[in-house]
Amino acid sequence: MGAFGMQLRSWTPVRSLAAAVAAVGLLLVSACGSASDDDGRAQAQEETRTGAIEVVSSVNQWGSLAKEIGGDAVDVTSILSSTGVDAHDFEPKTSDLAKLSRAEIVVANGAGYDTWATKSRGPDATLVSAAQIVGAMDGDNPHLWFSKDARAGMAKEMADAFSKARPKQRKRFAANLKAWQQREHELDERMASFADTHDDLTYGATESVAYYLMSDMSFSDATPKGYAQAVANGGEVAPADLQTFQKAIEKGDVGILINNTQEASDATNMLVGTAGRSDVPVVDISEQMPDDYDTLVDWIGALSDSIFTAVDPDYGKDSADDAGTDTGDEKANTTDPSSESSGNADGSQTQTGTDDAGDTGDTGDTQPDPGR
Ligand SMILES: [Zn+2]
Repeated sequence: MGAFGMQLRSWTPVRSLAAAVAAVGLLLVSACGSASDDDGRAQAQEETRTGAIEVVSSVNQWGSLAKEIGGDAVDVTSILSSTGVDAHDFEPKTSDLAKLSRAEIVVANGAGYDTWATKSRGPDATLVSAAQIVGAMDGDNPHLWFSKDARAGMAKEMADAFSKARPKQRKRFAANLKAWQQREHELDERMASFADTHDDLTYGATESVAYYLMSDMSFSDATPKGYAQAVANGGEVAPADLQTFQKAIEKGDVGILINNTQEASDATNMLVGTAGRSDVPVVDISEQMPDDYDTLVDWIGALSDSIFTAVDPDYGKDSADDAGTDTGDEKANTTDPSSESSGNADGSQTQTGTDDAGDTGDTGDTQPDPGR
């Protein structure tokens, strides 16, 4: 929790993501106990509802996940797919709202990111909301798709919602979920492997889009507080706050700069320029998933790779094969340099901030049905 506590920000991270997801898991387990009631109700519903489930997602990040979990049994429409608009100020068209109102299942991010979507769903529609699953509120950092805990919770919740909507396809959704969990687990392992072999990872961000991703990757946020708060509040950045950030970049307090290309401004352009002149690598990240990717795992995997390479240009070049398996040995070798700088409390706090970065095998903790 250390890294979270260190950075006061207007968009506060969700402190109890893992706990909230675990609680969801327990609820699902107890729901299985009364399966006969559920089946009875669901069968009645099945008589009226057949064919592909009409799913409308506010944003394509979650829409792509719905497609992965639902496969051909769902028909997914994502309202906001463009990486060229300001996601936080997005205003849906009337036709978008009509689609939402007709959806059988509405998938939303929540936490104030897409209030228009949850408000527009029909009275009988099922809502699957990332913020509800992890306990995020308006004012919390809303970029939940970049959180591995939120993704795990959403994938399970989607499989559950789809199974209720089409009980005869339950096994298929369970199989899709399991396959997804495997891909996500491999991504977790790659992130953990990198964190195990690199110390004192820091970043600054033009906007906090990648907060959860960087936290999952054991980076600590070195963005100056005044700047971060001004951006989170959607206001102008004061010249003094901008200069403080530029000085932090010049001094090397920021290992890499995360540039949110969807929230560009004169200020962010200046920061990117400062990074370029200071030999601080810049990684561009958008809010919505770019067209080039089909799945969240593919996209986030590619972003992770670009971050690995930005920090360590040689990473994975000649040890691509053992990057995921040999972490024990590599850790023993490469954590040596850190003992020289062991007085740096930041390094160790970064580790505790993402409390399960070191044991990705624990991903299973959030799954309620390991025995099935
Ligand atoms: Zn954002």
